[in-house]
Amino acid sequence: MRIVLLGAPGSGKGTQATILTKTLNVPHISTGVLLRQAVQDQTELGQQAEAIMNRGELVPDDLMLALIKERLSQDDAKPGFILDGYPRNLSQAEALDGVLAELNAPVEHALLIHVDVDHIVDRLAKRAELENRSDDTPEVIRKRMQVYEEKTAPVTGYYQQQNKLTQVDGLGDIEEINARISAALGH
Ligand code: ADP
Repeated sequence: MRIVLLGAPGSGKGTQATILTKTLNVPHISTGVLLRQAVQDQTELGQQAEAIMNRGELVPDDLMLALIKERLSQDDAKPGFILDGYPRNLSQAEALDGVLAELNAPVEHALLIHVDVDHIVDRLAKRAELENRSDDTPEVIRKRMQVYEEKTAPVTGYYQQQNKLTQVDGLGDIEEINARISAALGH
């Protein structure tokens, strides 16, 4: 199954993807995780991305496209994937469709995990205490939320037009939300 997970920072995408990857037996591909790894390894991409991520801005589309193209072409993604963190704007959504058309493997479901802004800010503040991520400071959280509203939220309309969008309520406990997602996927 080929799934795109959409939702604001802190909506629980990563948590749900970690469960789904096991139940669906397809890889969880998180661009945030891939980028943080690149930063840690100080690869060329990591060096270019680090400061941008620490400001809460988007890494340039061409760098992201190269990264995602490479990852989706790997053998383990043949049976499907759960994409988490990509696409993050309309041009990435179009680019992704291009890559997947070449692979003859279009997106089947776009799942939006909906959580309202007040809950999000709360959750991210808590996560900041636990994970020590350099982009979880209050100022950068605000910036990431703004980028989400301006650039990423329109991506839901893109998938709605393709009749691929399903929205799931992201409030509740982890199992409850997972059950909603499974129902939405008919799985
Ligand atoms: P969150 O979902 O909490 O916003 P992620 O781990 O998905 O966090 O992403 C962290 C940061 O990595 C983003 O703020 C951004 O700088 C960068 N990033 C991740 N995915 C993309 C992408 N598709 N395009 C551009 N930048 C990205």
